[in-house]
Amino acid sequence: MSKNHNEMIKCPECRTEGDFKVWESINTSDAPELKELVRSSELFMWKCPKCGNNCIVFYPTYYHQPEDKVLIHYIPDSPLTAIDSMKALTHDPYDESIKLEDGCRKRVVTDMNSFREKLLILDHGYDDKVIELQKIFLIAELQKEEPSKKIEQIFFNREKDGTINFAIKTEGEQWGRAEFSSGSYEQIAKTFKAALAADDEVLINSEWALAAIEKQM
Ligand SMILES: [Zn+2]
Repeated sequence: MSKNHNEMIKCPECRTEGDFKVWESINTSDAPELKELVRSSELFMWKCPKCGNNCIVFYPTYYHQPEDKVLIHYIPDSPLTAIDSMKALTHDPYDESIKLEDGCRKRVVTDMNSFREKLLILDHGYDDKVIELQKIFLIAELQKEEPSKKIEQIFFNREKDGTINFAIKTEGEQWGRAEFSSGSYEQIAKTFKAALAADDEVLINSEWALAAIEKQM
């Protein structure tokens, strides 16, 4: 069930206060309109009623998409501590009103870019584990070509025209693109079958991918 409450927000520009709707739990089957609002980040935007200033308000939320059996728990600005990540590894929603389907895929993300990336991967019907592995191999390939270029971030990405690729940030705030190869996706899915079948981890990121590769070697 989707749940929200109002919170007071103070405009950082003009100090005016106003109401802001915080969704602590989103269920796309009872509130399908939220689906798009999460993807556009509108759900995390507050507009000052006085000066019109737009603020982004990051708050934790459960995003549940029952029709695809996916739950993403977004916990912003929380560098997970060892204990937290232990909890996360066996993550069950702390919110009892969330009823999970059998086989529901659970994920924890701690920043908005990763949250949006997970949604994008979901929308394209890909497996986020394969994408994380693919990113590691792609980075290795790019580093080999240009060892002096340091890659800082990489995201599964969709352009305005619908093309998908990887957005890559190198040192010095430069964003570039690398092709998404479905052939390499299929190959990785085949090679890492066992790691993909395991269903006990919810933090699926580059650390997870590196550990999976190490195990496979
Ligand atoms: Zn204002």
